Amino acid sequence: MPSKTAYLEFHTKHKVEFLNITQDVARVVKESGVKEGMVLVNAMHITSSVYINDAESGLIEDFQKWLKKLAPEDISLYKHNLTGEDNAYAHLWRTIMGREVVVAITNGKLDFGPWEQIYYAEFDGQRRKKVLIKIIGE
Ligand code: ZN
Repeated sequence: MPSKTAYLEFHTKHKVEFLNITQDVARVVKESGVKEGMVLVNAMHITSSVYINDAESGLIEDFQKWLKKLAPEDISLYKHNLTGEDNAYAHLWRTIMGREVVVAITNGKLDFGPWEQIYYAEFDGQRRKKVLIKIIGE
């Protein structure tokens, strides 16, 4: 069964960034030659997420505002930060926004619903991070 594994690497300029990775995933799917199958895309870190939603800039700001309200960045709020870490909020945001997405491949293309786009959401960036892409099918 044909399969392909690829990695995307990120080193964001800011601690928090939302990156549309749909074209990167579509390129790897095309390279795989798989016409019918599935692609898994997952963040390989516990302080970043991969999710699917609208590529609308207002909504991306809304996500950040909502996450800050649910789990503020204030380090004094969390036990995790007593270990010397300062990223408890990032672990919580990752859990809320999710680890991975799975998308069907039909006729060699990502088979999305209307407006669906794949995002990598970085919550504790300014260092090297990776996303795994795993494709299976035929
Ligand atoms: Zn941590």
